[in-house]
Amino acid sequence: MIKDLRQRAKKILSVLEKEYPYAHCELDFSNPLQLAVAAILSAQCTDKRVNMVTPALFKKYRTASDWADTPQEVLENEIRSTGFYRNKARSIRALCSELDERFNGEVPDDFDELVKLPGIGRKTANVLMVTVFNKPGIVVDTHVTRVSRRLALTKHSDPVKIEFAIQELYPEKKWGRVSHVMVFHGRYCCTARKPECNRCPVRRWCPSADKF
Ligand code: SF4
Repeated sequence: MIKDLRQRAKKILSVLEKEYPYAHCELDFSNPLQLAVAAILSAQCTDKRVNMVTPALFKKYRTASDWADTPQEVLENEIRSTGFYRNKARSIRALCSELDERFNGEVPDDFDELVKLPGIGRKTANVLMVTVFNKPGIVVDTHVTRVSRRLALTKHSDPVKIEFAIQELYPEKKWGRVSHVMVFHGRYCCTARKPECNRCPVRRWCPSADKF
């Protein structure tokens, strides 16, 4: 059973890798700290909107202490357009203050340390592992949840269970690619409301094809 599922998962990945050879994190950043901040801003917001806001922020705030020392209201105003700006400003300041105190202002490249930091959940920790540290991780966002369930790679709806289920299907060295191509497939073909099953490259392995 798991063997069949792994074989189907392998075929799906091989097709998606060809379909999205340049799949990557679409948040703009140039170092781990910037990606951590952008990932916090991206909650309930599009990457496009975040990318409109971050250039001015990254120019102004260069170090973790720059972010940590800025007054809450100032940061709230600067990130207002990304939504949930009060919580996001609080998370960014708390994260950067802890990075400054415990990690000399650097973002640690260790998953277990990352998830202990304020504002960093498993999803963001995995984004950092895969995108800037070149380490294994499965990023389970709304796209990966939807695509993996439609493709019957998992029956779970809990993101942590999905993460572990996908880990079981692929070798560790593929986890980063799996994350990126599934996000791209969910964003550009297997969309939430109107999946484009008629042009989907993995429809022959998809039990949900044309069911929408
Ligand atoms: S066939 Fe349709 S539901 Fe299945 S993965 Fe492709 S777009 Fe999504």
